[in-house]
Amino acid sequence: MAHRRCPSRDLLRGGSACGPAKPAPWHLGFALLLAGAVSCSAASAADYTGPLFDAHLHYNNEACTHDTPAPGCPHPMADVLDRMQRNGVRAIVANSRPNDGTRALATAREQTRKAGVTVVPFVRLYRDRADYNNWFRDPTIVEMVNAELQRGTPAGPYRGLGEFHLYDSANANGPVAKQLMALAEEKDLAILAHVDDVAIDLLMANTPSKGRKSLLIWAHTGIGGSSVARVDELFARYPRLIGELSYRPGLTCGDGQLCPDWRALLLKYPDRFMIGSDTWINQRWQYYDELMKGYRAWLGGLPADVARRIAWDNGAKLFGVPTPTP
Ligand SMILES: [Zn+2]
Repeated sequence: MAHRRCPSRDLLRGGSACGPAKPAPWHLGFALLLAGAVSCSAASAADYTGPLFDAHLHYNNEACTHDTPAPGCPHPMADVLDRMQRNGVRAIVANSRPNDGTRALATAREQTRKAGVTVVPFVRLYRDRADYNNWFRDPTIVEMVNAELQRGTPAGPYRGLGEFHLYDSANANGPVAKQLMALAEEKDLAILAHVDDVAIDLLMANTPSKGRKSLLIWAHTGIGGSSVARVDELFARYPRLIGELSYRPGLTCGDGQLCPDWRALLLKYPDRFMIGSDTWINQRWQYYDELMKGYRAWLGGLPADVARRIAWDNGAKLFGVPTPTP
């Protein structure tokens, strides 16, 4: 029921359209309540309708095993591009395990052009699942990364490294983690890191500028639920730390709109957040429409210029993606 969603929605939007300002006589109460419900529904935010930049997309082996016939390929190129197109996703940070899926997206120039999707390729650090737990100390990962960087893609040079995971933040000091953080800063590559807040400090300390110049996209902005105050502190410390918002606990409240503390943080740093699908398993492809609808709903509750920045401009600026024509 629309009117039941109204008070919290209205509160989150910072408006005051709901309900009478003063106590009403009892016989007017019901009428005012109804009127309030109607005006609240009418005042509800419309969903954001502009372009989306999916800053955390995987096209992994199991989405489409390229060397097997159709039944083994649940999400072939045409399928994933269709999902992006029908959701108004006009650019993606593409990465995959192994890097074949990214290469496939970056090579399908005609198909991606037709779908209106710009591919921003990142080098994933994983050849297989075993690499998740060992990449930070495995020198063959550096070799693989350097070979990929040198090779580039038909969609242009790689623009970042990741996503990588650190399940134990101390591994941010692994020899390969240190090497890759320094390399990324030297080559101005973005980092896409699924780590906790402690690892953010450790990773940044491993760069030549101590994090002043490093472009680090924090996958999920702390999937373990780092507090808003802690995220704020890290954003203040590292000027190019960006928060990607998939799976972020506590981001939205019961009505699918931003919770008040997160709304305040996004308004404080409108240039520092991006949205992402994180299609790490095939199920996320199946729910791609719902994921993007969910983003459009809470983006619609923000001031239009802030919504546009988080949805599109921030990613487009970072990677020089031209504004799409509708
Ligand atoms: Zn991911």
